[in-house]
Amino acid sequence: MSLVRIGPSGWAGEGLFAAQPIPGGTRILQYRGEHISKEESARRRLAGNNYIFHLDYAHDIDGAALENTARYLNHSCSPNCRVELSGGQIWIVADRDLQAGEELSFNYGYDLSEYERFPCACGAPNCCGYMLAREYWGDLPQSRENYAWPGSQDSSSQE
Ligand SMILES: [Zn+2]
Repeated sequence: MSLVRIGPSGWAGEGLFAAQPIPGGTRILQYRGEHISKEESARRRLAGNNYIFHLDYAHDIDGAALENTARYLNHSCSPNCRVELSGGQIWIVADRDLQAGEELSFNYGYDLSEYERFPCACGAPNCCGYMLAREYWGDLPQSRENYAWPGSQDSSSQE
């Protein structure tokens, strides 16, 4: 029996769900794909491929193929899975005990060079507004609470 099933996400198109209770620490599934060079990776990213995953200093994995079930995992700022690199493989691992029916997520971990292309709508109470690696949250130009969204200011305060 598969540990996961695909279904409508709570916040982003399709998502991946626990099909049965999964203990924390379980390797749930592998992020599979074509091994490509960093040069090829850069080319594909520029072409709009958002399924490329860092593997090591020389290679990335392109998980865009539909056979890669892990491509359905959505980003969350409060994820319940983590990513582990092991022996040239990328694994999605349960970060805590999961209940059947829970939507699975991990932090996509974009860095500050490209996070603005990936706004986040995960709905977590601590959502930082972007699919940004946790270690960079303190480096955001403004925290979300203080950000004046365009059009949200009182018109009398504009010059
Ligand atoms: Zn978020």
